[in-house]
Amino acid sequence: MDTGQCVHCGLCLSSCPTYMTTGLESESPRGRVFLLERLREDPSLLNSHAAKALDDCLDCRACEAVCPSHVPTGHLVEAWRAESAKSEFSDLQPEAFRIFRTVSRPLQLFFGSPKGLRWFQRLARLSKKPMVGSWLTRIKWIPQRLEGLTLGLPDTIPRHLSRVYHVKGHSNLSQRAMLFVGCVMDTVYADTNRHTADLLSLGKVDVIIPQNQRCCGALHMHGGQPDIAREWARKNIEAFETSGASIVVVTAAGCSAMLKEYQELFGPSDPFRVRAERFQNAVVDITALLPELPLPKVDKPQEQVQISVHDPCHLAHAQGIKPEVRQMLQKAGYTICEMTDSDRCCGAAGIYSLTHPEMAQQLLERKVSTIPQQVQWVAAANPGCILQIQSGLKAQSQTPRAMHPVDLIWTAYQRHGFLSE
Ligand code: SF4
Ligand code: SF4
Repeated sequence: MDTGQCVHCGLCLSSCPTYMTTGLESESPRGRVFLLERLREDPSLLNSHAAKALDDCLDCRACEAVCPSHVPTGHLVEAWRAESAKSEFSDLQPEAFRIFRTVSRPLQLFFGSPKGLRWFQRLARLSKKPMVGSWLTRIKWIPQRLEGLTLGLPDTIPRHLSRVYHVKGHSNLSQRAMLFVGCVMDTVYADTNRHTADLLSLGKVDVIIPQNQRCCGALHMHGGQPDIAREWARKNIEAFETSGASIVVVTAAGCSAMLKEYQELFGPSDPFRVRAERFQNAVVDITALLPELPLPKVDKPQEQVQISVHDPCHLAHAQGIKPEVRQMLQKAGYTICEMTDSDRCCGAAGIYSLTHPEMAQQLLERKVSTIPQQVQWVAAANPGCILQIQSGLKAQSQTPRAMHPVDLIWTAYQRHGFLSE
């Protein structure tokens, strides 16, 4: 990865959310690449302004998607975060970032095992109780941000992890998929994973859910902690290898983008590197897989149901998946009503809405303002985006609700008798 690839053309500027919000060159991809280049030459040049400019990057990869020189700005900033976290300059990073690093080991207890995930699920359910919700917002650390997150949670949080879903076996089917359940998807959005398994079975794919899989590690990677991400990557690779599956199906865009880059976590001499390459080549986001499956077409349109699609950064920019979501929703009988800049970041960006609440809020307000008034649903194939957009819609008392496209497609098939309850 090289900053020297940048030819300073500026083609990336208008796609960068932080540049479009602030108008500052230092908050643009070109400015960040320049900063990184200078810091590589002389690390002592780092001051709080430079650290802020780099930390403000959402890692949304919008710049990478348009850059003619293929400068991997998001990756470069991510690598800088990991290095600076270990350096004498770590004090220059935003306070919330440092707090995240401090609590990330205990967070492993939650996201690192099914038992921890069950506790996380219970806490999420508890936070929906009105008394508990208002008490939580009085906790000193990030009260407003916590309030925003609980507002975005679905009204009903499932009682069981999606990984315990009993998938009906189809051993005569040619393709076997490992369903990667994730952490937030396994708990808060467990129903989406269950609906995914149903749609895969309807599309003649055999589904297996290995119990020894772990969180993808994306949040830790974005937070500059590749060691934890690497530890979980090993577990996921082993789970896939022993599952007998030929593909890994993922329901969260942030996770699929991370899993598709597992090889980068391991050095050339690491025995896991080859295994990681095999693993990442098998990863497919559900939104890219569904159009390829022999799923039925719903001839009768879903009367009056209009949907707008938000394209998560890690789906549109990192994986180049955009039209597929619309194709599937239309096949299920829905009408699409496009929003402006559907692939502009909503401000969720992993832990960004916690570490950079002001910028995240500005991006969220812009996103909500672009949602067409007449739609009932906003389809978003990433849990962070669903949470963020849902909280923005609720805060403004707007009627549309954010939902994963899989849930909308499942509902249409279920209503038309293609799926049982
Ligand atoms: S990062 Fe890419 S698009 Fe942006 S100025 Fe450099 S070469 Fe041009
Ligand atoms: S990754 Fe996103 S926020 Fe960061 S420089 Fe690129 S476009 Fe801007």
